[in-house]
Amino acid sequence: MSATRLTESEFQKLATALRVREQAGESQAVLSTEFIELGKRLTGRECGECSLCCKVLDIDELSKPPGKWCQHCRPGTGGCGIYDTRPVTCRSFACFWLTSPRLSEAWKPSRARIVVHLKKDEDGPCHWDFIVDPSRPERWREQPYYGVIKQVAFNGLNVVDGIYFQTYVKTKRQSILVRPEKEVDVTGRYHVIGNDGDAWEWKVATFATQAAANRFIDATNEASAKLAPELPPIAQVMARLRPMVRS
Ligand code: SF4
Ligand code: SF4
Repeated sequence: MSATRLTESEFQKLATALRVREQAGESQAVLSTEFIELGKRLTGRECGECSLCCKVLDIDELSKPPGKWCQHCRPGTGGCGIYDTRPVTCRSFACFWLTSPRLSEAWKPSRARIVVHLKKDEDGPCHWDFIVDPSRPERWREQPYYGVIKQVAFNGLNVVDGIYFQTYVKTKRQSILVRPEKEVDVTGRYHVIGNDGDAWEWKVATFATQAAANRFIDATNEASAKLAPELPPIAQVMARLRPMVRS
């Protein structure tokens, strides 16, 4: 029997209660699982025949690389074979289509061949991941997907609490930073995003190591401070993220 549906305001109230418990130090894995159940009651959606997250995700606990079906998955015939003991990564994965009405039915992962996820890195801000089925690597360039991805990238430029959201398209071996005006392959690279103050064009610089990225940031900020001490640093550092890509 399906659980009682929630209205948006009921969902927000219950989600706020989860955030309070998070601030009180409660287990993230438990809270994530509860959040996913709340999201499903908001959208009225179920995974059904879809198992795409069990293919596209990187599951550390199982040494499962992205883009390869999990050994425990039974796609189309019942989902996870170890459901009750599945790893924390699986329990806490909040599929955005499943938990948010903001994505239409066209985004059901089994149809879109894209899994959408808002991810929080330990050492960085949240970012959007559009993780594409490697058997359809160019799917994200089709409509309506490409238009929505570009819109999300544009929305990410609005600062919320001093944070810009970045947007990535990820396939088995590739990570692409999507900006409203361009796309940059940042596979396996640290990258720094900034502008030069005068122009609207945003620059993306990539580096092999975090140390090299940090040196670039420090040198650019130092030069900026000398040139125009009254202005904020030239390099407005938005991200020092390194997409994780296993070979
Ligand atoms: S990708 Fe989303 S809808 Fe599909 S099985 Fe995973 S959680 Fe369910
Ligand atoms: S353990 Fe289960 S839920 Fe996790 S990836 Fe494998 S099949 Fe999917």
